[in-house]
Amino acid sequence: MAWHQAMQDCAPLVTRFAPSPNGRLHLGHALSAIVAHDLARASGGRFLLRIEDIDGPRSRSELADEFRRDLEWLWLEWDEVSAQSTRLASYAAAAEALRARGLIYPCACTRKEIEAAGAKMGSDGLIYPGTCKRTPPDPARPAAWRLDADEALATTGPLLWDDDLAGPTAAHLSDLGDVVLVRKDLPASYHLAVTLDDAADGVTLVTRGSDLFAASHVHRTLQALLGLPVPRWHHHALLIDVSGQKLAKRRGSPALAERRLAGEDGRMLADQLRLQHLQLGT
Ligand code: GLU
Repeated sequence: MAWHQAMQDCAPLVTRFAPSPNGRLHLGHALSAIVAHDLARASGGRFLLRIEDIDGPRSRSELADEFRRDLEWLWLEWDEVSAQSTRLASYAAAAEALRARGLIYPCACTRKEIEAAGAKMGSDGLIYPGTCKRTPPDPARPAAWRLDADEALATTGPLLWDDDLAGPTAAHLSDLGDVVLVRKDLPASYHLAVTLDDAADGVTLVTRGSDLFAASHVHRTLQALLGLPVPRWHHHALLIDVSGQKLAKRRGSPALAERRLAGEDGRMLADQLRLQHLQLGT
């Protein structure tokens, strides 16, 4: 389904923008926020802001305030704001349910050990080679908990998910493998937290950049395992810089806050991004 068709969807949509306060927002974030905002508003629905602040040591609370000012500057109004750090108990409960059903297993491997085990590269980093699934780790070592992809598939059977741009897509885990659902240092990983939050917030259209497309295979699987409602997805094309690379803060894309504080017109910038996005065709 094309962008303009999605906008004509008659049911009011609930969308969200879910930034992590471990770095400043840049243009790519602004586009994601605009896409989520505009799709919700065009349908008469709701646009939510969720601060993904569970990454304790890397999360900086002052950035959450900065994000709000950035969105206001872009003339994007949200209906509700929530923070992941208030939801840790729900992540722990879901992890416990998966553990009780044998769908996750402990893994004490370090990144070095995973590399040394000859792990293959998937679309989002190394595919875990299953070391701790074959031989459970020493309980004295700190462990993360990984989804047992084979067990998950056997439980759910074939699943489909629907992306506005890619259309109906068969869920598969072969590209991501046994992803971490509970981190060594946190009660959830991105995958578990975002899936539970989108369900808890009643999000009906998950919008985000196409760099996160592969993650939706995992999220669709978790929805089936945990009996959660299934939204639709909209993975939008990414903005690229003059050298043809994805815009990212590490490549020096200017932070929105810097542009805001320099007196640039945020509303005009948002409109330019809308135009650029239309030209990308998504
Ligand atoms: N916190 C994630 C990020 O900033 C959110 C991704 C998503 O929208 O699911 O990339």
